[in-house]
Amino acid sequence: MVGIVIVSHSSTLAEGVAELAREMGDSEVRVEPAGGLDEPGALGTDAVRVLAAIERADSGDGVVVLMDLGSAVLSAEMALEMLSPELRERVLLSEAPLVEGAVAAAVTARLGAGRAAVASEARGGLQAKAAQLGSPGGAAPETESVPVAVPEPAEAALERRLTVTNEHGLHARPAARFVQTAGRFDADVSVRNVSATRGPASARSLNALATLGVRQGHEILVEARGPQAAEALAALEDLVVRGLRDEAAPLPTATPRQPAPKGGLSGIAASPGLALGPARHLRAKTPEVPAHDVADPAHEQSGLDEAIAAVRGEVETARASVHARAGEAEAAIFEAHLLLLSDEALLGPTGRGIESGRNGARAWNDAVEALAGEYGRLEDDYQRARVADLRALGDRVLVQLGGGHPETALEEPGVVVAAELTPAQTAGLDPAKASAIVTAYGGPTSHSAILARALGLPAVVAVGEAILAVAEGTELAVDGDAGTVLIEPATDVEAEFAGRLRARRRAEVGSRARAHEPAITLDGTVVEVAANIGSAADAAAAVEAGADGVGLLRTEFLFLDRDSPPDEEEQFDVYRRIAETLAGRSLVLRTLDAGADKPLAFLEQAAEDNPFLGVRGIRLSLERPELLATQLRAAKRVAAEFPLKVMFPMVAALSEYRAALELTPDGLETGIMVEVPATALAAPVFAPHVAFFSIGTNDLTQYTLAADRGNARVAGLADGLHPAVLRLVGAVTAAAEPEAKWVGVCGELAGDVQAVPLLLGLGVTELSVAPALVPAVKDAVRRVELVAARQLALEAVGLASGREVRERSDPETGSLTVP
Ligand code: PEP
Ligand code: MG
Repeated sequence: MVGIVIVSHSSTLAEGVAELAREMGDSEVRVEPAGGLDEPGALGTDAVRVLAAIERADSGDGVVVLMDLGSAVLSAEMALEMLSPELRERVLLSEAPLVEGAVAAAVTARLGAGRAAVASEARGGLQAKAAQLGSPGGAAPETESVPVAVPEPAEAALERRLTVTNEHGLHARPAARFVQTAGRFDADVSVRNVSATRGPASARSLNALATLGVRQGHEILVEARGPQAAEALAALEDLVVRGLRDEAAPLPTATPRQPAPKGGLSGIAASPGLALGPARHLRAKTPEVPAHDVADPAHEQSGLDEAIAAVRGEVETARASVHARAGEAEAAIFEAHLLLLSDEALLGPTGRGIESGRNGARAWNDAVEALAGEYGRLEDDYQRARVADLRALGDRVLVQLGGGHPETALEEPGVVVAAELTPAQTAGLDPAKASAIVTAYGGPTSHSAILARALGLPAVVAVGEAILAVAEGTELAVDGDAGTVLIEPATDVEAEFAGRLRARRRAEVGSRARAHEPAITLDGTVVEVAANIGSAADAAAAVEAGADGVGLLRTEFLFLDRDSPPDEEEQFDVYRRIAETLAGRSLVLRTLDAGADKPLAFLEQAAEDNPFLGVRGIRLSLERPELLATQLRAAKRVAAEFPLKVMFPMVAALSEYRAALELTPDGLETGIMVEVPATALAAPVFAPHVAFFSIGTNDLTQYTLAADRGNARVAGLADGLHPAVLRLVGAVTAAAEPEAKWVGVCGELAGDVQAVPLLLGLGVTELSVAPALVPAVKDAVRRVELVAARQLALEAVGLASGREVRERSDPETGSLTVP
């Protein structure tokens, strides 16, 4: 493949252009930047750098060199002279415009074109822009001749008429995807813009395609000739129908999915339990729109501006979080939302409505409805789908104007179906109405899944987009243990499922009846089964569920969705209320664990490429010591009256723990969470200094297996029962034992009944789980015989995978069956 070199006076510019070209062409195209001088930041060009870049870019097929101005050309020419004669033969210096030329060259190189063709496309790189600016409508004037290399039609063509629905039409990235797709087939493909009577243009040329001026809503005629004409047309149709977006990446086979049941979908089991009920798509509650007129338009306008700014902030937070967890493509939807929020088509009519005396909410709503009406009249589905987006965004602004109240509501009881749920949406579900959760995306240890367990709602995540197409009210049978969802099960299947549901409910009633008694193993060891909570209300649920205490109070819930942090008094009040509710039971308060997937609105954090490996947990607290010190003071005041201890999240080094202790008032009992593999391995170093260890298996698993806990595609790897994670648990208990320190587990693994015997066998003596799981976990402890459990743990750590541990584990008793 022909390589490309970008020569610029600025290394930043060269890198940026190279990045753009790679993005458009494909990562396989060698695009090498040669910008700036050796001295960082200095502007200039250096022939030696150009020479090195040419050598890197060449794979034997030659290199096209693009340059910015002046001495860049001289340096490139000098580099050419320094090359071996053989390589010099294969290098072309191109006068093409730097940015457009690089993009066109990369796309053409990706198709396997020779260097002359690549250089020629690069040279034509300005055509698209010229055409775009050539008339007010954006398309080139009808009379302008556009060089389009369409071969003479030697044979009859297959053809397909398609409507382009994506926002930007056939320009830039979508056009690059079109060219790449067409280029995969042995076929000559050409395109006409039927709506604007332009073309034909060869689908091998990004420039030619772009000059067709294909915009959203235009009809195109795609013609293909050659051995793979039919395949090419099918692939291009698929691409256009998908809105010229990248294909959704397939899920890897490593994901622990059950085979999809007949008439159903398979996902990832995220919260145990069974449920049968009608599908209920989660919708935003339609806010009230007041009708009254107002006398002070300026005041209305500023209120509206604030509301829009607040929604903008929410969208930006969501975009950052999704970008960090799922990547740029998934976050792109939020860009469209941000654009809508500043769209003149909305803001103009709204402003005029306010000027004419309407209140801000009404003026905004009228503008949204008018625009929605226009979209709704359009013919294609993609456009119509945008109406829903527009209304949802419009409603969020109305919600803000009304004081920022609940954004989602489940109108009727049933199974909640959603693309993905935010923690706030999950927390806002009414347990009296929601019987289970099924999401198209998401991972089992995402914070929404954790909340589902906390609410005792069965949940299956990552079942794929098919669930979103299920009609409202369709009967669903959700198996949160197996991770499957049956859609409209046959009568006999439904009856069998209902029988299992009844049996399970009976067992749960039995567990609950015993839940307030201690959990004692068969050989008489008492195990503390505590609860993970995130609010005062959860504390009451924990007590009611029979928890012996709280092993993890996630305090970040107190810091979310607000403009400034809670002060010492407010924190003291909340912690004290929780401690009072626990009525003498132990309480482990975890200090603020913000960052990564838990961004805080009032904390300005610089963007990080890898936020999960960045400034989160204790690292963030030590950067903002005043926040940590305030929290510790509030905790200390509660500890004076109640059995409260404190632990620090994400500790990776003893120095961090020591720094946190410097901010800790005397007399406060402190421990650490073990969430970083280094800390588990170095537990002997920590053991003399801590009062206890609490193992956060959610993070420990993601870091041990290098598998993002929120990414469904690697959920199969992120199994807390992986022997490597179990070994780390064993390393902590082994270090704690000689120092007589206790070790608990507060990650989701503690609530997995299959894991209970193994954790106890490894020496864990406290399990902290979602309140709803306390009864079942206590029962699981009661089935454990410690001597046997130790033996089982020894065997389990020698297995090869979490799957092997699970396969050999008896789902009823949790004991391993040795093959
Ligand atoms: C953990 O990582 O296991 C844990 C309990 O912390 P969180 O889930 O809040 O990150
Ligand atoms: Mg954690």
